[in-house]
Formats: sequence, C-alpha cells, structure tokens
Amino acid sequence: MKAFVLDHAASAEDAVHSLQSGAVAIAGGTNLVDLMKLQIAAPDRVISIRRTELGEITPEGEGLRVGALVTNADCAADMRVRENWPLLAKAILAGASPQLRNRATTGGNLCQRTRCGYFYDTTQACNKREPGSGCAARNGFNRIHAVLGTSDSCIATYPGDMAVAMLALDAVVLVEGASGAREIPIAEFHRMPGDDPSRDNTLEPGELITAVRLPAPTGGVQIYRKVRDRASYAFALVSVAVDLTMDQGRIARCALAFGSLGTVPWRDLAVEQVLIGEKPSPSLYAKAAEVLLKDAHGFGANDFKIPLVARALAATLNEATQTGKA
Ligand SMILES: Cc1cc2nc3c(=O)[nH]c(=O)nc-3n(C[C@H](O)[C@H](O)[C@H](O)COP(=O)(O)OP(=O)(O)OC[C@H]3O[C@@H](n4cnc5c(N)ncnc54)[C@H](O)[C@@H]3O)c2cc1C
Ligand code: SF4
Repeated sequence: MKAFVLDHAASAEDAVHSLQSGAVAIAGGTNLVDLMKLQIAAPDRVISIRRTELGEITPEGEGLRVGALVTNADCAADMRVRENWPLLAKAILAGASPQLRNRATTGGNLCQRTRCGYFYDTTQACNKREPGSGCAARNGFNRIHAVLGTSDSCIATYPGDMAVAMLALDAVVLVEGASGAREIPIAEFHRMPGDDPSRDNTLEPGELITAVRLPAPTGGVQIYRKVRDRASYAFALVSVAVDLTMDQGRIARCALAFGSLGTVPWRDLAVEQVLIGEKPSPSLYAKAAEVLLKDAHGFGANDFKIPLVARALAATLNEATQTGKA
C-alpha cells in the first residue's frame, strides 16, 4: 500500500474542507481499504468522517433522514425503518455479512465500486480503472456483468443492494460541497458508463454525502428478492425490489427497482405503468418483463440473467400481490 496521511474530520464542514483540497473520504473503509491495498486507489491524504455528526437517524417531516455515517447494521435495525420502510431493512440485511454491515455506512455503500474482477486485477485492461486501456470483460469472464445500460467502454454493474431499495422508495441523496448543499434524487445519483466509466456517480469532486432522505412511507407491501450463488454473503446475480399496493384485486400502485441487472440500480417507469390498474396474472408479469428487457443484451456468460430476472420479477410480483390482496 502506498503511504498516505490520515486525518480525522471533526464535522461535515471540516470534511468538505479537506475534500476540497484533494483528500479522499473514508467511512467504514470496507471498500476503500481494499482498493488502496491494490493501489487502485492511491490517495496521498485520507480524511476519516467517523468523528463527524453524520451518524444520526432523524425524522424529517413525514420521512426520515439517514445520516451518511449510519452503519448498515444500525439502519436495518432501526424500528422506524423496519416498520415504515421495510424494503430498505430487507435489502441491507440481504447484503454482505454481519461484520461488514457493522462497519459499512450509508454513504460508503452508495459509493462502493463495481465487483468486476478485471477492475481489481491491475494486470488487465479496464477503462474504469485506467481510462482508454480497454475492457477485458466484454470478451472475458462476464457472468456477473450488466445486460442493461452498458456501453462499448464498460459493462460492469453497480453491485449493491441498499441503493436498489432506495431507488424503489424514491430516496434523495443529500450532498455538501464548496458551493453549498444540494439534493440528488437517487435515480440520478449513479452514472451509466457511456464513454467515461471512471466516474460511477454524479458527485462533483470534493462533495460529501451528508445523508439520505426517505420520503413519507407508502404503506405498501415491500419485498426484496435477491438471487445469488449462495444463500448469504454473496453479491446479487439479480435482485428485485418492489413496493406495491393492491385495491379491489388490482395493482393500485407499484414501484420496482432491479439490482445487478444494469450498470446502475435500474428503474423503468414504463414497467410500472404496465402493471398499474391491472389484475395480477402470469401473463401480466410476462408483459412487464418484456418491457423491462426490450433493450437487454448479454455478453455470453451473463445471457442467463435475462430469463432469470423475468422469473424473479414474476415470483416477486406474485408474492407481493398475494400478500397485499385487498
Ligand atoms: C466481502 C464483501 C462482501 C460484500 N457484499 C455486499 C453485498 O452483498 N451487498 C452490498 O450491497 N454490499 C456488499 N459489500 C460492499 C459493502 O457494503 C461496502 O463495502 C460498504 O457498504 C462500503 O461502505 P464503507 O462505509 O465501508 O465505505 P468506504 O470503504 O469507507 O468508502 C467507499 C467509497 O465511498 C466513499 N465515501 C464514503 N463515505 C462517503 C461520503 N459520506 N460522501 C462521499 N463519499 C463517501 C469513499 O471515499 C470511497 O470511495 C460487500 C463488501 C465486501 C468486502
Ligand atoms: S466491465 Fe468495466 S470495470 Fe470491468 S473490465 Fe470492463 S471497463 Fe473495467
């Protein structure tokens, strides 16, 4: 690991000041330290935000403000989250391991980098790690890679679970930078690769995530289904988050998001429109999957994700509509 200077910020303001002068933020360190060991990240200065005020969960209007430093474990255990936004608790608990969730934070989870093996192997071509070097995954081992939102430059997924639930819940990422505070709807937070996969998200240089705001609870049935190679401690092959309300046997409201399917947590409002107002049925679920996957494109080893997500979507919708029957 390259030598670096570690400072501790006493407040978010202090941290923003350090970020502006080129330091890199560290929260739980569960992703950044791995990247530093491999010298994929090699900052001269690292600013820890663990002593700042960002570790609180506080009510905000009818919603909830989850500080950037709140650990995944604390967020998933919070009774307000469990009762009113159970989708978020379920998605977090489907991720990583108890030890990691005790350390991993809300802000760090949003910014975690891809799990593409070529990104972590510095002997391989990777446009995300080294712009212009190529993409070894396109014709390589691409079983975990994306089938939506890919580009010639990069086909990696954002691998996390928490952000997928937040996307279905219409969360907002709160950010502080040199020019003050701004809010980024989570649907605009992660960036598709286009011709610059080196940037994963829309944070500007020097900006700090201070919190995520969850809007008022919907009262819907909320399910997170994660399909993976083993039952725990594995990233998703695909995942489906649903928040759905039934009325008189029909789907009255529906928000859906998908993980490890696209290059970013994936939401397509056209899929929800197919479902809203309709009576649940296998043919309706198949129609929704068709709309979701109309532009899907596999790269060989990941072709299986296309039928897999169609089945996962049908199973999730079936469970949610049966649970929410009204
Ligand atoms: C073995 C293993 C299995 C895992 N399995 C899963 C899984 O199944 N599902 C899942 O979702 N995740 C999984 N993870 C990923 C884990 O959830 C992330 O590593 C973790 O959430 C990152 O949070 P952190 O606080 O440790 O971030 P750090 O490692 O501290 O930081 C990560 C990045 O975020 C930036 N950052 C941190 N806080 C802020 C902030 N407030 N503002 C701006 N930038 C910030 C850092 O600069 C860095 O670039 C796994 C990780 C490991 C190692
Ligand atoms: S898919 Fe993206 S992260 Fe993986 S090798 Fe290609 S450019 Fe790198």
